[in-house]
Amino acid sequence: MNQVCVAKFGGTSVANYAAMCNCVKIVTSNLDTKLVVLSASAGITNLLVELASGTLDEASIEERMGKICNIEFSILDDLGRPAEITAEIEKLIHEIRDLAKHAIIEHDDALTDRIVSYGEIMSTKIFTEVLKSKGYNAKWFDVRSVMRTNNQFGKATPIIEVLSNTAKELLTPLLDDYIVVTQGFIGSNAIGQTTTLGRGGSDYSAALLGEAIGNCKAIQIWTDVPGIYTTDPRLVKEAHVIPEITFSEAAEMATFGAKVLHPATIFPAVRRNIPVFVGSSKDPESGGTWVRSQTNTKPTFRAVALRRDQILLTLKSPNMIGACGFLANIFSIFAKYGISVDLITTSEVSVAITLDHTGSQSSGQSVLSDRLLAELKSICSVRVTEGLALIALIGNGMSQVSGTGAAVFSSIMNVNIRMICYGASSHNLCFLVDQSQAEQAIAELHHHLLEGNPQNIR
Ligand code: ADP
Ligand code: ASP
Ligand code: MG
Repeated sequence: MNQVCVAKFGGTSVANYAAMCNCVKIVTSNLDTKLVVLSASAGITNLLVELASGTLDEASIEERMGKICNIEFSILDDLGRPAEITAEIEKLIHEIRDLAKHAIIEHDDALTDRIVSYGEIMSTKIFTEVLKSKGYNAKWFDVRSVMRTNNQFGKATPIIEVLSNTAKELLTPLLDDYIVVTQGFIGSNAIGQTTTLGRGGSDYSAALLGEAIGNCKAIQIWTDVPGIYTTDPRLVKEAHVIPEITFSEAAEMATFGAKVLHPATIFPAVRRNIPVFVGSSKDPESGGTWVRSQTNTKPTFRAVALRRDQILLTLKSPNMIGACGFLANIFSIFAKYGISVDLITTSEVSVAITLDHTGSQSSGQSVLSDRLLAELKSICSVRVTEGLALIALIGNGMSQVSGTGAAVFSSIMNVNIRMICYGASSHNLCFLVDQSQAEQAIAELHHHLLEGNPQNIR
């Protein structure tokens, strides 16, 4: 097989027929692009999550179904309502309605994933048809036949070895003859039940598939912005596109809130050293960002990211003084509930921890359950503080030069810092602030550290 590119398009890129046509142009203008990975059309996953909740009455179900039909059938209308695909989408719509009604009676996480997966199934069916209608040799592929995951519905972990073997057997051979269109975000467990990888997981799917097919030249993430910016362009209008960034920095950005990439996306790319390109599907000519193992520039400050809705847990126990094993006990409780601990600082008798919400459950469930809190309270006192935001400065060699802390904190003299983490990686410095001060802090940090000539502390 020749080297191929994988192209992933997010929800806004497949929101309607015109947007899908832009994607077709991008795919077909590069003969190496053989595998297309899609999200659900914009808005669909949120509606499906509501339908899966089991909390809607029949009228509310119909209202949500109406919205889904509007989105899907308006694309089909523009496509000229071809009979076969229209009938297929009608059948899928009926299935969603039946499953949503079933969720009222008997709700569980497996059913939620099954319902939520329909968004990607529909977008890929329709996009394959759009490609075919324009004369291209396209094939729909059910990613669940290769994307094997564990049983953690809502945030399933892919089993890389199975994916690698089955993809080479079932998917790679198709790439010689077809443009293959498949689903991001979804997978299936060992007994064939549908699972999902967590919200925003399609980026991760694309990278995993790029790794699994072998001989992947680039993973392209086409979205609604022309690249990775110095900060979320919705927050700071002076934010600018970063032309190239290292895997390490991009991984930190994604982990600390830059929604443009799912946090796990970079790992498969790093394992196979596959460059990742991020660009705008609306405006592909406007360039984008290349994420690679090495870059020509390595500024001290490259970007600033924001993660909202952080939970800070302060755990306090006199047993911590000079004791061994207290932290191990706490972490084993988090592990038992499948919760990823994020930042951590300790004092003599207390430990402060933030919990990671990003890439959270597809159903949007809170990570903090009553059972978890009760178990923690059996060994220490627990204080929960909500309404916080995590700000991360991302760059290079930050902990290896004098003045990083001064440059960062003198930029935000009026902001109350609640917790700081620094030194574990030379690529980031992060801290918690009250949510009400977060945007101001981002704007000031961006202004002082990322506008004009990128500031290097050397
Ligand atoms: P898609 O549906 O294509 O996956 P997302 O909404 O998940 O798109 O991600 C794109 C959005 O990420 C942008 O519209 C932007 O608001 C947001 N974003 C946050 N931080 C950044 C950043 N540093 N650079 C670019 N976009 C960012
Ligand atoms: N459709 C899913 C979501 O909205 C996955 C994705 O878009 O990446 O979260
Ligand atoms: Mg996304």
